[in-house]
Amino acid sequence: MDRIMTNRPDRCFQRYQSEFEEAALRVLRSGRYILGEELERFEEAFAEWLGVRFCVGVGNGLDALTLACRACGIGEGDEVIVPANTFIASALAVSAAGAVPVFADVDEYYLLDPDKLESRITERTRAVMAVHLYGQTCRLDRILAICRKHGLKLLEDCAQSHGAAYRGRISGTVGEAGCFSFYPTKNLGAFGDAGAVVTDDEELYEHLKKLRNYGSSRRYYHEEQGVNSRLDELQAALLAVRLSHMKELTAERIACAEAYNEGIRNEAIEKPRLCPGAEHVYHQYVVRTKERDRLIAHLKLRGIDTLIHYPVPCHLQGAYASLGYERGALPQAELYADTVLSIPIYNGISKKEQQRVIEALNEF
Ligand SMILES: *Cc1c(COP(=O)(O)O)cnc(C)c1O
Repeated sequence: MDRIMTNRPDRCFQRYQSEFEEAALRVLRSGRYILGEELERFEEAFAEWLGVRFCVGVGNGLDALTLACRACGIGEGDEVIVPANTFIASALAVSAAGAVPVFADVDEYYLLDPDKLESRITERTRAVMAVHLYGQTCRLDRILAICRKHGLKLLEDCAQSHGAAYRGRISGTVGEAGCFSFYPTKNLGAFGDAGAVVTDDEELYEHLKKLRNYGSSRRYYHEEQGVNSRLDELQAALLAVRLSHMKELTAERIACAEAYNEGIRNEAIEKPRLCPGAEHVYHQYVVRTKERDRLIAHLKLRGIDTLIHYPVPCHLQGAYASLGYERGALPQAELYADTVLSIPIYNGISKKEQQRVIEALNEF
């Protein structure tokens, strides 16, 4: 029996193979590989797809978040509130900008908890980073209201939420900036590293374009200390192909999640909760169980791979030991770190494979 892996980016390539190959060859033959028409075309298409004015392609998701912080004027002496349950990049971006991440606990949807946000605000707080983890959008109306009340910026980490929405508002279009990763296994994945920042703010847009290109808007004149973080022409052209199929790709993920929601019936396994008003795009399908090690072994034996997103919450990571958080500080995030398990969900997972996953979980 074939193993069911946690991701199969090759299946998406195979589905649209001739389109990807045509785009790749076009770029290779063009002689233009950095900051050309392909990038401009993708930036325009991605902005239009989300319904925002501007998009700036960058090298990866971490850079998207870091440059968004810097472009918003966040730096030394500032604090940014970040959920404790997220990939470390959400916090590292704040640190890379020179500021300090202040970790906040999460809610029953695994997301930044609006009820626990205000108590984390100090006089140094400059922004909140809403991470739309696993493909589900945070309760942005309440988070935005708290930001406005306290004069804070809202940054969105949309690395896992391409096209997700909450109460009709698309993730990435609500805050000052929406930051995306196009890492190969993300819902909109490239064939290498890539990322983007979207915004409606023209000034922020111009600043981001400068920051990604050595702090320069005119060749060899450098107004500030920028970085080299450009989304290259090859990735941009390939991303444009995948973007043109996002509707069916997202529908396919949702259908897989619905099959899991329907099919999984086991009291020892808690299924993910859908927040009322949320349009989930299921980057991950994350269940919970008190007997995680046993469930992992049970699935492994049946040829099914799993992953833990994430085994250590950010506030307890070695990288942030100097901040002095102790176990028990953010109990919900810690509980999830001990109990969550991501089961296979990806574009190209067959109905048969989904059925095998369901049966294996129900047998547990
Ligand atoms: C993947 C991811 C990132 C970082 O993206 P890279 O392209 O790998 O740098 C940031 N935040 C979250 C939530 C992610 O899942």
